[in-house]
Amino acid sequence: MTTQIHSADRELVEAAAEVARTRCRGDNHTMAAAGRGRDGRIVTAVNAYHFTGGPCAELVLVGAAAAQGIHELETIVAVGDRDRGVVPPCGRCRQVLLDYFPGLEVIVGEEEGEGVRAVPIAELLPVSYVWADHQVDAQ
Ligand SMILES: [Zn+2]
Repeated sequence: MTTQIHSADRELVEAAAEVARTRCRGDNHTMAAAGRGRDGRIVTAVNAYHFTGGPCAELVLVGAAAAQGIHELETIVAVGDRDRGVVPPCGRCRQVLLDYFPGLEVIVGEEEGEGVRAVPIAELLPVSYVWADHQVDAQ
């Protein structure tokens, strides 16, 4: 199931695009992300590239949101610098986002003639491993 994005999601895309345009400089910061909490607040972040596996903008955003007391994200989007537009999350981020926020919507870019749209995180990671299902005290 996919849904066209609403004005609140357009605002989120614009927030990420603004950070990508103004804050991404050099090779260390090339992606920006914006997320909206259940309370409507918007948080932004940029990636912290490092050859040892520095975190993507989405993962920095998870921590930045928590630091502001936002522990439930509703929607997230990532935008690349140099006008690359909306970029879908990498595999690692899909797994982390699914484990943290199973009900999250992810705004992804244009594909096969469709415009920018919001997709449930579970749809971006079919037949997924659910970490919580394999913890000893999960029974
Ligand atoms: Zn990633």
